[in-house]
Amino acid sequence: MSDGRQTSDQGLDQIIGDEAFDITGFDTLAVRAGHHRTAEGEHSEAMFLTSSFVFKSAAEAAARFGGSEPGNIYSRFTNPTVRVFEERLAALEGGERAVATSSGMAAILATVLGLLKSGDEVVASQSLFGTTNVLFDKYARKFGVTTRFVPLSDIAAWEAAITPATRLFFVETPSNPLGELVDIAALSALAHRHDILVAVDNCFCTPALQRPLALGADLVIHSATKYLDGQGRCLGGAVVGPNKLMEEIYGVVRTCGPSMSPFNAWVFLKGLETLRLRMEAHSAQALQLATWLQAQPQVAAVHYPGLKSHPQHELATRQQRGYGGVLSFELKAGEGQSGREAAWRFIDATRVMSITANLGDTKTTITHPGSTTHGRLSPEAKAAARISDGLIRVAVGLEDIGDLIADCQRGLAAL
Ligand SMILES: *Cc1c(COP(=O)(O)O)cnc(C)c1O
Repeated sequence: MSDGRQTSDQGLDQIIGDEAFDITGFDTLAVRAGHHRTAEGEHSEAMFLTSSFVFKSAAEAAARFGGSEPGNIYSRFTNPTVRVFEERLAALEGGERAVATSSGMAAILATVLGLLKSGDEVVASQSLFGTTNVLFDKYARKFGVTTRFVPLSDIAAWEAAITPATRLFFVETPSNPLGELVDIAALSALAHRHDILVAVDNCFCTPALQRPLALGADLVIHSATKYLDGQGRCLGGAVVGPNKLMEEIYGVVRTCGPSMSPFNAWVFLKGLETLRLRMEAHSAQALQLATWLQAQPQVAAVHYPGLKSHPQHELATRQQRGYGGVLSFELKAGEGQSGREAAWRFIDATRVMSITANLGDTKTTITHPGSTTHGRLSPEAKAAARISDGLIRVAVGLEDIGDLIADCQRGLAAL
């Protein structure tokens, strides 16, 4: 356009790429990246609820299918709304390309199917989202991909687990529910000395607080279900990384079909617009609640990387731009009371927080990991993962902090 402004058909990515404008700030990308306005001139991003697309001629159809002409074909692998979400997320993570998937688990599955083959080995953190653990330990194993699990923070343990067959390191940092971290730069440097790829599940921090690719990781994985949506409405996921790796992952999504719906993509891309503001608010609220809990005599320990008492507080401060919204704490059980009894009493006395294992929502959620998310672990595995019976996890939402503290007072009073 002659005045350099975005009108119909002209994507903002072109303007962002224009040195005269230099629109590269995180918040600007969060609000505008990837938006390709249609001829209707809509201001908000359009939602393309269509499974397929029509061609002007048989020749155009052939060219699209043959790949000689770019354009939409079918929404399993080309949908304009999904593409806006992908381009926006890639911009925020600082990656070349993002591929959206139907859930966070589908993102991990597409990564495994796209990049690994029978005989390859994975080294993964012991502190993983439970279902991710099952994906590697049961399903990937069925197809000849074996996984060794090591303590998240212990770089020497990662190194010791490497064999000539190791192809991938898989990690979540900070971990759920204890908020343990690994030094992403150090882990990536180790991996790259051995030609190993590093995938970081960035669900807890999001690119607003942590950008693993800039620290040396090869791939970022998301459950968009959590903070990218931020309001608990839709399931979705994504992988972000360099074109060469993403082409393989895109091929899996195109062929095997764990694709994101355009409706969900629209919800997520709108969620990205407020991501930094929300993550900062979640972080500030969580720090306030963690600080308050730490001062209560009935609380034995609080696990939150934002607290100075956290053993990796310094790393969290260096590696992240905030500490996130998830904290956990342990109650001192009363005389003759089990930790689990105390935790359940506390949880059942709350009135504002939702008793649910989900997280990344404006609504605060509270859960007892020992009998829910980590309930399938054996007593030994629970002890290794330091999931005590009295542990409670809170994913702090955006309600008034005074009401959340009052809720915790109700919980403590019920012990
Ligand atoms: C929820 C979650 C997943 C799985 O995402 P879904 O969207 O539920 O499939 C993966 N990793 C982490 C850290 C999660 O919290």
